[in-house]
Amino acid sequence: MGASGYDQDTLKEYIPAMLYTMYDGYYIYGKYFNYTINQYQYGLKPYIYYSCRYIYGNNYDFVVNYTLDNSITIYGKINGQYRTDSGYVINPNLVGNVENIVSYVKGTYRKEYPTKISYDGVNIEKEILTEQLVVIAENGVAINPTSYEYVRYNNQKIYKENGENRYFYYKNNTKEYLSDEGKVLRDDEITELRYVQTMTENGHLYSNSAVQYYKEAKDFSERLKQYGLNKITQENAVDNNGNKITDFATNTENANIFEFNKNNDPLLEGSSFNEHRMSVIRKSIETNLSTAIANYNAGSSSMYEFQMPIFTDNDWDKILNNISLSVFMQGIPIKAKYFNSYCIVTNNKNEEVVTQNSIYVLSRKNNAIEVHMPGCTELIDNSDYEIIAAYNIIDFERQTVVISQGDERYYYPQYASKCYNCIVNAAQTYDINGIISNNLQKFDVKSNQYQKYNKDITLLRKTYLTALGRERYDLYRTNGYFLNI
Ligand SMILES: [Zn+2]
Repeated sequence: MGASGYDQDTLKEYIPAMLYTMYDGYYIYGKYFNYTINQYQYGLKPYIYYSCRYIYGNNYDFVVNYTLDNSITIYGKINGQYRTDSGYVINPNLVGNVENIVSYVKGTYRKEYPTKISYDGVNIEKEILTEQLVVIAENGVAINPTSYEYVRYNNQKIYKENGENRYFYYKNNTKEYLSDEGKVLRDDEITELRYVQTMTENGHLYSNSAVQYYKEAKDFSERLKQYGLNKITQENAVDNNGNKITDFATNTENANIFEFNKNNDPLLEGSSFNEHRMSVIRKSIETNLSTAIANYNAGSSSMYEFQMPIFTDNDWDKILNNISLSVFMQGIPIKAKYFNSYCIVTNNKNEEVVTQNSIYVLSRKNNAIEVHMPGCTELIDNSDYEIIAAYNIIDFERQTVVISQGDERYYYPQYASKCYNCIVNAAQTYDINGIISNNLQKFDVKSNQYQKYNKDITLLRKTYLTALGRERYDLYRTNGYFLNI
């Protein structure tokens, strides 16, 4: 018996479902009827993608799998033929031409890499990324945290040895060198080695992930137009049986969901694409969760009628923007009443999704390095801060290296002290959408409303947009859709 007076099995009777939301879909844990053993049992139901089917005329009957960010996968009958395609959507009008191409020729090998592209008035360029590592030397001694340049390629980080043109993977806290001297490399290792050699210039290793992100997003978004998807509206959305869906949480009416322009920018909150995407995810969860909870009644000995709880907008905001776990408890008898509750736990420090809020900005002021939220008022208002880089929030987490039993070392891939203003005034930051769209809004006390704040934030935008693209591009994906090969 636990402190609540219920043991685990008894408590389970009052938990009709648990919901685990992930990057591109979700699991529902609950009771279901297992036909092989002919009884109800607890378990994880099959993974459900955040998807919606669309029918338009006779030539379009396809499914779009959405995610917590701007990447989608489409498959089905599109313009009369079966297609499957995936990528990030963006307003392609904001992406300029690729300016630099680096190529490398050795034997039969030749590949080109974009190294510079413009996005809405800022240049997205190849960049030097650095992070600290603690390496255990051959004699078992841990070397103090040391900073190395790195890139991410084929889902793994490759580091450059300081002062040498040698590269290594960081495995089990040791360096595993990538080299073709005296060693026959696999094809993927050859591609990796050529990539890092090509991207090394004047002794520095450059990442072009951000450039690739904007280039591929532009190409994918233009392909969607060629496929004719720019005609699709919410009116074309149907359920599994082909019946039109009429009850989305947000009605985007006749807006063209996949026609991207300044009025429908997938990088911004409130765009038709994002409103529709979130409505699809919400509708899918509501439908399947309420079914799971209703089915629970059938397998329950309790007299209690289990029902899908009504989430507040704030709850949905958490679920639609994060990896989350929701637990529902219903029908626990307390005196003459029933106790009903649910809780939602979110996790924004994960390797599953890079949200607008996942990017943190590094500044230098009087030689002190500090980390800020991108909309920090000090960072933006006070020109003493020199913006130097931006990384994913997870890179600021402490890492542990176990040298031997009882001997543990700690390090931070990105080491910086936290900005005091960001901590105490976290709620008063500038809206990130204003940074992305170069439309910073400041509250004006006199007029009692928000007004355009004419501050030059070019460097902040360049730094933020570069990091957002790079971190999304470099994100580990189990489905392999976005390998940068
Ligand atoms: Zn700050």
